[in-house]
Amino acid sequence: MGCNCGNKGDKFQPKDPSIFKRAFNFGKAITKYVSSGLEDVSRNEYQRRLTICKDCEHVNEVFDKCLICGCKITMKAKWATEKCPHPDNKWK
Ligand code: SF4
Repeated sequence: MGCNCGNKGDKFQPKDPSIFKRAFNFGKAITKYVSSGLEDVSRNEYQRRLTICKDCEHVNEVFDKCLICGCKITMKAKWATEKCPHPDNKWK
């Protein structure tokens, strides 16, 4: 299943977040994850999320990074407390 919530013609054009913003986002994400008891999604959900990210115009596959929040995709997709930061929430 590919992403159908946006394309390169979208008006939404995020900038790659600064290192400070990435550190802030990661701090928030890990706090939520630890507070949840380190809850991960199922293997199927993890694969589904990775497939959506792979087709997303906001992924940097070389660096395994979401260009909206700056988080590592393989980590972000695994944590149950994480959501896709795109305004359309592509993982829903
Ligand atoms: S988390 Fe969302 S916005 Fe980021 S790369 Fe994946 S699908 Fe795209």
